Amino acid sequence: HYELPNIAERAIKNINTKPKYISADTIYLNQISLSYLADKKIDGLIPNRKQSKEKIGKLSPNPYHKDHFEYDYELDAFKCPKNQYMYFFAKYYEPHKDPEKPDKIKRLYNNYEACKNCKARNKCCSSSQTHKTITEYGSEMQKAMNHKMEKQEYKDEYAKRSSVEGPFGIFKEQFQIEKEVVTGMIKTEERINLDALAYNLIRLHNIKQEIENKTEDLEDFCESTSIKNQLKLDVTIF
Ligand code: SF4
Repeated sequence: HYELPNIAERAIKNINTKPKYISADTIYLNQISLSYLADKKIDGLIPNRKQSKEKIGKLSPNPYHKDHFEYDYELDAFKCPKNQYMYFFAKYYEPHKDPEKPDKIKRLYNNYEACKNCKARNKCCSSSQTHKTITEYGSEMQKAMNHKMEKQEYKDEYAKRSSVEGPFGIFKEQFQIEKEVVTGMIKTEERINLDALAYNLIRLHNIKQEIENKTEDLEDFCESTSIKNQLKLDVTIF
């Protein structure tokens, strides 16, 4: 997740040129990558999870899923499927497991009154919820990146690059040069096996250290693998 600056620096050294763009998968969308790109004045192309899912036509089929809440950048609010706005109401900092990494920023949005009077509440909320809360992660820099990636010109740039890249790609102007810079395509199956192997090593390490393996980590892993490899997600977690 945090390797973009290291690998980008090595690639820049290899090609001896600062690239115009650096594109990366959603898992690299974090403060460390974004600060690096801003410091280096390189145009980053990193979609968020919803934008990645949208690109491959894998938004949730549930019309009340967060995927179908549209963010309004001017209002700083989400429009729900019943056209009600969920407004920002709180921001929290969650310490990262690794103290050397920046805290995670969590922003919460809701509209208690709108949900209270909504006829679709039983479809949208669980039986224990009185209203919907939308949780968003990331800083203002991440918000700016999300906004940028909504623009067609950046979607097109990203699409050009993601069709040839590995975990992330660094590109100059011409496609031919791009191909040389990219380390090469890895076959999907091999990539999933490597991802699964890495994930299992982390789990084994956690067991040894008596750290709990969380279901959300497994869900995150499955979801990011499905987005990255453009596969349908169909998993049962026991
Ligand atoms: S329950 Fe709330 S968030 Fe869900 S559709 Fe109704 S008003 Fe919108």
